This record gives sequence, structure tokens and C-alpha cells, in this order.
Amino acid sequence: METSGQQFIAGKRRSGTSGERYEVTNPATGEVLATDTLAGPEDVDEAVAAARAVFAEWSRTTPAERSEAMLRWADQLEARAEEFARAESRIGGKPIRLASGFDIPGSIDNVRFFAGAARHLEGRASAEYSGEHTSTIRREPIGVIGSIAPWNYPLQMAAWKVLPAVAAGNTVVLKPSELTPLTSVMFAEAAQEAGIPDGVVNIVTGSGPVAGQALVTHPDIAMVSFTGSTAVGRQVAAQAAGLAKRVHLELGGKAPFVVFDDADLEATARGAVAGALINAGQDCTAATRAYVQRPVYEAFVARVAELMDGVRLGPVDDPATDMGSLISLRQRDKVAAMVENAREAGATIVRGGRIPDGPLGRGAYYEPTLITDAAQDSAIVQQEIFGPVLVCLPFDSDDDALRLANDTPYGLAASAWTSNVFRAGRASREIQAGCVWINDHIPIISEMPHGGYKASGFGKDMSVYSFDEYTNVKHVMSENTGVPHKSWHDTVFT
Ligand code: NAD
Repeated sequence: METSGQQFIAGKRRSGTSGERYEVTNPATGEVLATDTLAGPEDVDEAVAAARAVFAEWSRTTPAERSEAMLRWADQLEARAEEFARAESRIGGKPIRLASGFDIPGSIDNVRFFAGAARHLEGRASAEYSGEHTSTIRREPIGVIGSIAPWNYPLQMAAWKVLPAVAAGNTVVLKPSELTPLTSVMFAEAAQEAGIPDGVVNIVTGSGPVAGQALVTHPDIAMVSFTGSTAVGRQVAAQAAGLAKRVHLELGGKAPFVVFDDADLEATARGAVAGALINAGQDCTAATRAYVQRPVYEAFVARVAELMDGVRLGPVDDPATDMGSLISLRQRDKVAAMVENAREAGATIVRGGRIPDGPLGRGAYYEPTLITDAAQDSAIVQQEIFGPVLVCLPFDSDDDALRLANDTPYGLAASAWTSNVFRAGRASREIQAGCVWINDHIPIISEMPHGGYKASGFGKDMSVYSFDEYTNVKHVMSENTGVPHKSWHDTVFT
């Protein structure tokens, strides 16, 4: 068990100074993995000062220099991939297969992508529009970025926040969730081992109301990049607005999964189970609402139920385990209460809806759950659950399907399943979400953007689009004639 060192400030691991102790536990077993003292406002001050001190140096490195350092960073992560996977699996209660097959390689690929993208950061283009001036566009880093991340994919969320920022020449103070700080600290340490200067990547592990708040309101934080719930995102945005700070919000989701009657039913049912249960449903893009066309509805529900029966819950370090625990007993109880409320409101619990018996029940496990007969306006259909729960509802016409898919406050991701190219085209146009998958659900790639519509936030993670968040665009206009001539001065001042 680690007893200290969950802050990484100016290149050094240390404890926070708030005086408030906390424990990082494996939610699948309750085992305590680390204890430490949370960060307070002084730690945030120190981290911001470290990031500010190195900003001039880092922002003046060439794209090639940043790129080379980031490629070494990726190599460091790769060399320690197994260690990262074990840690990620234990702090998140996630199966080792998911951590080593998805979280860690995804994060390493992200580092390599941004190492390359750093060299494609467009800007610095010149053109002449007035005949007397040359215009140049500079894309400049913003300064010290305050990033706040959730617990569901601790390393990937840290990577998504930190990488575009530092590739564009900013420096960062990241506050991971206090439930899952370990791999974020290891990530920053690997950056140091790769030769990235101390202070470019700092980690403060503290609570939202203390360290998170101190970061959002800090006068030397130029921009706040937040991934988390819509409720907290709204508060953060309101504060940032009051301080005229730039803000980027990646918030909650409630992804629809639309099944037309011409879809490959077996592939669709498998996609629904994987899309709903990945990371025990604690995924902002998880399939949560399956709308299924009436002729195939019964068959779809029956096949999904059958496939859920085959999902193996088990210890997270067992390679045979398909689904691990939720992040905490608190999160499990929240999910259980939502399912209970749905049952009381008249929904049918076709599968699951229970805490498993035996040893797993002592961890934060919850059974894969399939619900039917819920009302479209009920909480289980409208609100984010963040647990292994799929609700299935029938629809009749294509118009109905697309209306229902758009009928929540969220708009992060969605999928449509069909063999008809026109239906696919219409769904991809009309569903209001930052990502629409056709005949799949969940896959992400570093080259393509991730971000929400509506109450799921604004701005993009991953891809070169994320540089729009982390850079200022500057217009430089140079008088270039060098000889006396009639200029706009003569027109305005006679
Ligand atoms: P959360 O909103 O409770 O916390 C997110 C982060 O904000 C944590 O680090 C937390 O400590 C911090 N925080 C809490 N209160 C704060 C405050 N007042 N000021 C500043 N910071 C504060 O979310 P969570 O429970 O950690 O994560 C789950 C949520 O994250 C879900 O809603 C999920 O959809 C969302 N999420 C979104 C994406 C995306 O890309 N859109 C990705 C992953 C998770």
C-alpha cells in the first residue's frame, strides 16, 4: 500500500497539505491501495506557479521538440504497460482484460497521435488581402490549463485532458478524481522520465469542492477543461463565466441505440450488451436506451437477455472476467435505487436489478440489468445511470425512432443499426449528438473528435479539433509596402 505521494508538483511526488486524509480502494474488494492527504488550495497555488514558471520555456519549444519528447513519453508508458494495467484495473474495479486491451493501449496511442499532431498544428499561414498588408495567423498556446477529470477511465481521461494541451505548448495542472489518482500520477512521472520539463504536467489530488474549486477560480489559470457530470460542469462554467475564463466541458450522456427492423439482429444484440456493459456501464457514451422497431422487438429483448446471462462477473484480475465492479458502494447503491424506482414506476426488470450474492456482493458489483416497459419520460430513460443497465423500448416509424433518440437533455453519442444506407444517412444527420455510430457502438480513435451537443457540453477532446480549445488564434497584420503611398490614414484623416 502506498502511504503518500499522490501529488506531482514541479516534478516531485508528495502528499497534499489540506490535512484531510483519504483512501484509494479497490472497489471490487474493498482493499485499501493507498492512503494520503488531499491537496488544499496551497498545493494548487504551488502547482499553478510551477506550470506558470515553465510556460515560457515549453511554449517556445518547436513542434518537433515537443513531438520527440512525447514519443519518448509513449515509450515510457509502453514499457510500463502491465504495471499501468494492473493499477488501472484495481483502482477502477475494472477487468484486467479491459484495462490492458482498451484503457492502456488507447492512452498510449493518444500520446503518439498528439506527438504527430503537434507537428501539424496549423496556423502561421500568410496571405495578402489589402494589397498593402500581409496577414499572418499565429496559433498560440493559452497558458496554464486547469484540467479536472472523472474516475471512469482515469488514465484515458488524464490523457485526453493533458495531451492536446501540452502538444500545443501549454502547461497543465490536472486534478483527477480523488477516487482514482494513482495512474494519473504515474502518467505525469512518465512524462518526466521522457525528459518533459518539470512543471509542464502537474497533478493535484484533492476533492472537487476544495482543490477543484481552487483550480477553477485561480487567477493564473487561463482556461478550465472539465470532464464530469453535467451538474458540476454547469457550476464550473458559471464560475468561469464570472471570471471571463475560457472553458471546455465534456459532460454526461444518455446514448440512444436505435435498432431498425432490417438490422442484423445477432450483431445488434451483441453490440447492445457490449455497449451497455463496458466498464460496468460507467461510460459517458454507453448504450443506455435501446429503441427497437416493433417487428423485431421481442426477439431483440430475448436475445439481449440471453447474452446478459452469459456475462461473467468476477475478480478483476481474472482474465476470464467480462464485467467488474462499479467504482464505489455509493455508486452501486445509486444505480440500485434508480432501478428500484423504475420498478415502482411500473417498469419490468427482465434481467438483473440485484446486487450479486456471495463474495462479489461485498464489493461494488451490480448485475447486468435489462429493463422494459419504462415510460419515455421516466427517470430511468431520461437520467444518466452510469451503471450496467439497458432499457429497451419499442417504436413504430422511423420518425418516432429519431424523435425518441433526441428526447433527452443529452447529446454525446448514439448509434443506429440498419442495413439500409438511407436510414443510416438520415439517422446520422438527424440525431443530435457529437458522435453517431452506424452498426456499432463505443469505438473511439485518436484521430477523430469526441465531444457533446446540448447538455453533454461543448468543445472536443482527441483529434486535431481539440487544438481549437487549447490555442488562441492571433492575426498579425503587417504593412508591407515600405514606400510612401495613399493609405487608409489619408481617407480617414484629411
Ligand atoms: P463529477 O462531476 O462528480 O466529478 C468530476 C470531477 O469534478 C472530479 O474530479 C471531481 O472531484 C470534480 N469536482 C466535483 N465538484 C467540483 C466542483 N464544485 N468544482 C470543481 N471540480 C469539482 O463526475 P464523476 O462522478 O467523477 O464522473 C462521472 C461523470 O463524468 C458522468 O456524468 C459522465 O458522463 C461524465 N463523463 C463525461 C465524459 C465525456 O467525455 N463527456 C467522459 C467521462 C465521464
